[in-house]
Amino acid sequence: MMTDFSTISVDKVNFVFMNLIKTGMEDSFRHKGLRKKLVDLIRSKGITDKDVLSAIDKVPRHLFMDSSFINFSYSDQAFPIGSGQTISQPYTVAFQTSLLEIKPMDKVLEVGTGSGYQTAVLLEMGAKVYTIERQRELFLKAQSALNLLGYKPHFFYGDGYEGIPAYQPYDKILVTAAAPNVPDKLLEQLKVGGKLIIPVGGNTGQSMVKIVRESETGFVRTEHGAFTFVPLLKGKAGK
Ligand code: SAH
Repeated sequence: MMTDFSTISVDKVNFVFMNLIKTGMEDSFRHKGLRKKLVDLIRSKGITDKDVLSAIDKVPRHLFMDSSFINFSYSDQAFPIGSGQTISQPYTVAFQTSLLEIKPMDKVLEVGTGSGYQTAVLLEMGAKVYTIERQRELFLKAQSALNLLGYKPHFFYGDGYEGIPAYQPYDKILVTAAAPNVPDKLLEQLKVGGKLIIPVGGNTGQSMVKIVRESETGFVRTEHGAFTFVPLLKGKAGK
C-alpha cells in the first residue's frame, strides 16, 4: 500500500525523525562487545592504566565517526573524519592519555579537537577539558557529537599554537597533531608541576615528547617512541 504523506501529522513525522536519530546514535550490545575486545587489544599492546582502559571501554567511538565507517570503529586504526583530518588510532589515544597521568579535576588543554573522541576520553576520566580546533567544520561537528552524548568540555575555535591564554595555567596539555617543535606559548601556559604531551617532528614521523615543568624555568623533556600524526597547522580554516 502506498503511504499518502499528505495525511501524516507533524507529530508522526517528528516521531519517525526522532527514532532515526536514536537508531543512528545507538550504542548496542554489539558495539559494547567490540569495545571490550578493543580494550583487551590495547591492554595487550602495553597500556596498563586502568582509568584509561575504563574510559576507552565507556566512550562510544562509533558515534564520533561517519556512519559509513561503523564497521571500522572498533579496529585499532586511525580513520578520516573530513577536512583532511583523522580520528586518532585508539592505541595512540590511550598512550598519550596514559603519559598525561590524568587525575579527576585536572584542568586539561587539548589542542586539536578533531572528532571529539579524545576529548570524551579525558572527560570520562574526570578532567575539566578546554579543547581547541582550527577547522571550523570539525569544530562544529565535534561540538554537536559531544553535546548529544552529554559531554561538556569548553570549546574553542582558533589556533592552538597560541594555546588558550584566558584559562591558563593548565595541569596537563595534550597536542593531537604533530609540530616541528614545542610551541613556546604552550610551555608558558603549563602549570609548575604540569605535563605536556606532544608529537614532535616532520611529515614522515614524529617522536612522542613529554615535558614536565619542574619550576618556573625548569622543563624536563623525555621521548616515548615513534608515531605518525597529521600536522599542527598555523591559523584558522573555514568561516
Ligand atoms: N584528538 C582528535 C585527533 C584529531 S587529528 C580525535 O580524537 O579525533 C588533529 C586535529 O588537530 C585535526 O582536527 C586538526 O584540524 C587539528 N589542528 C591542527 N592544527 C591545529 C592548530 N594549530 N590548532 C588547533 N587544532 C589544530
